[in-house]
Amino acid sequence: MDIQNLIRPSIKALKPYSSARDEFQGSNETMVFLDANENPFNNGINRYPDPQQGALKSVLSDIKGIAPANILLGNGSDEVLDLIYRAFCEPNQDNVIILPPTYGMYEVLANLNAVEIRKVNLLENFQPNAEAILSIIDNNSKVLFLCSPNNPTGNSFSQESVEVLLTNFKGIVVIDEAYIDFSKGASWLKRLEEFPNLIITQTLSKAYGMAGIRLGICYASADIISVLNTIKPPYNINELTQQKAIEQLGVVDLAKNQIAAILEEREKLIAELNQVTFVSKIHPSDANFILIKVDDATLRYNQLIEQGIVTRNRTTQPGCNNCLRLTIGTSDENKKLIKTLKSI
Ligand SMILES: *Cc1c(COP(=O)(O)O)cnc(C)c1O
Repeated sequence: MDIQNLIRPSIKALKPYSSARDEFQGSNETMVFLDANENPFNNGINRYPDPQQGALKSVLSDIKGIAPANILLGNGSDEVLDLIYRAFCEPNQDNVIILPPTYGMYEVLANLNAVEIRKVNLLENFQPNAEAILSIIDNNSKVLFLCSPNNPTGNSFSQESVEVLLTNFKGIVVIDEAYIDFSKGASWLKRLEEFPNLIITQTLSKAYGMAGIRLGICYASADIISVLNTIKPPYNINELTQQKAIEQLGVVDLAKNQIAAILEEREKLIAELNQVTFVSKIHPSDANFILIKVDDATLRYNQLIEQGIVTRNRTTQPGCNNCLRLTIGTSDENKKLIKTLKSI
């Protein structure tokens, strides 16, 4: 499979902007930098950030066991997803496949980039309908978005169906693993080398507790990473984000302990939700949220708001009639949620 054939012709021909810091890399203390029209007075952020985020990528590379050449960083996963559209989807010509109910940004970004969306709803058990997906694709189908664990349903996709899609779909398959650190299942990272059309996205926004710094991570073949690199804004990851991410990732066991605490809370919350009379279904979760079915989602959503608790009403999504999505909070927050649910 030749990835070059999937890249938009205008992107292949693109001559990327070359920034001052691209031309000369190096941080020798004695060096005098008169190349980028920066303010010379040091305050920690007066210099442009490293456009290739070398130090941060090396930390991530150690944690994930993936070479820096297979990593691209974005201003949140949302920027990474947008770059994927721009690299592979010709506006008003190509199409992408999404599997509702799923993360809303795939559709927003398709509309933003004037790319046709083909929807194949998940099956009743929230697994991909591989047969229907393979029957709807054509030569202009460039990207298939798989979100596993899926938002808002919380389940992971079966390894077999993902494998069928990876092998039979001749476009790019994006597996969005925003919630992978909460999952019992394995990440697809270990199998990156087997599939030249595979892109895996992860984020520091969820398990790693850094939604505020906006750092999304993309793993793919060096060929794909190199294309995305030529089209990304030169300084897309700011200095404060790079510094904070390195600092937090260096705190040994921080994320691991918080993930364990969240998973423990998830099990407690499920046990308590089972005792709420108007909760009729609790969908199994591989993430840090739970999708529940209630008698009247909009009524319950509004009642919770009145009591100062904000949840996500997913009732209009396919297969999610009368469903609310609840994020796992702290022990105190979850207790307040249960107490309120039992009182309304
Ligand atoms: C939260 C979430 C993300 C994270 O997006 P960022 O821009 O990295 O914060 C990505 N994908 C899914 C499915 C999500 O739910």
